[in-house]
Amino acid sequence: MSEISENTPPLLAGVVGFPIGQSRSPLMHRYWLKRYGVNGYYIPLSLSAADLVAGIRSLPRLGFKGVNITLPHKVSMLGLADSVTDRAALIGAVNTVTFKSDGSIRGDNTDGYGFIQNMRQNAPSWEPSAGPALVLGAGGAARAVISALLNEGVTELRLANRTRQRATILADQFGAKVHVVDWNRASDAVDGATTIVNTTSLGMQGQPDLHISLDAAPKSAIVTDLVYAPLVTPFLESATALGLTVVDGLGMLLHQGVPGFEMWFDHRPEVDDGLRMAVLGR
Ligand code: NAP
Repeated sequence: MSEISENTPPLLAGVVGFPIGQSRSPLMHRYWLKRYGVNGYYIPLSLSAADLVAGIRSLPRLGFKGVNITLPHKVSMLGLADSVTDRAALIGAVNTVTFKSDGSIRGDNTDGYGFIQNMRQNAPSWEPSAGPALVLGAGGAARAVISALLNEGVTELRLANRTRQRATILADQFGAKVHVVDWNRASDAVDGATTIVNTTSLGMQGQPDLHISLDAAPKSAIVTDLVYAPLVTPFLESATALGLTVVDGLGMLLHQGVPGFEMWFDHRPEVDDGLRMAVLGR
């Protein structure tokens, strides 16, 4: 419990996007603020692209410690920040901003960190170097997942994307461990893969399902889906039906929020069932 006196101003942070109403980050950070008794506020901020520079620059002067960045500003924040972490530069996007005492902007990306922590928490037996990884999709989220998997010691990463060219660009960037496979051969690439990740938006509410057969997956494979609405996607259902271990995507969203909360509110928060329920609105 933090000491609260009349003279202590509340700590301020928030999330910047356009639109912003769909963001679940306020539910998450407000749960933690209450749980840890922190004298602070986490505020959703709607800023259009035209207002982004002036809006972000005004926040430290208003007392903000930092903000999360969501769609559509994650890539443009990379160029706007005064400094960026290596992982943000590698991923090519910023999702967490901290304002330094001189008002300068430091950009970070915690998506890959969130992905790994989610796997470790929900599949404790997961060993990234146990065998090849198969990543489906080559968008923004895939960049974070690929860089995190390689960082964790994956030695062979198979990458399949509907638009092959996007996968080739990522393979060129991330090096020889990344092998592009045809989208229509992705079910074959499941063979022997011990980590299987859907980073496409297929399976999301309102989107078509992901039709990749997991029949050839080894029994030890861990299957995860970045889509978390619905929480259990048809892809994860098919993995469960084959007796494979599955990890849903909500935990990635929750874990990626940890470093920001810790920096802004000076308390390292935990990802637990209470937080999941709060974010799911249950
Ligand atoms: P993105 O940059 O727009 O990439 C979308 C990906 O989905 C691309 O690989 C795209 O393939 C593929 N795709 C879309 N429609 C398709 C279709 N009909 N058939 C085959 N492939 C299709 O999006 P993103 O930011 O990477 O996000 C992807 C998903 O991850 C979203 O559902 C997002 O909500 C989720 N996500 C979750 C978390 C989390 O914390 N759990 C974090 C980030 C993202 P093409 O290149 O061929 O278009």
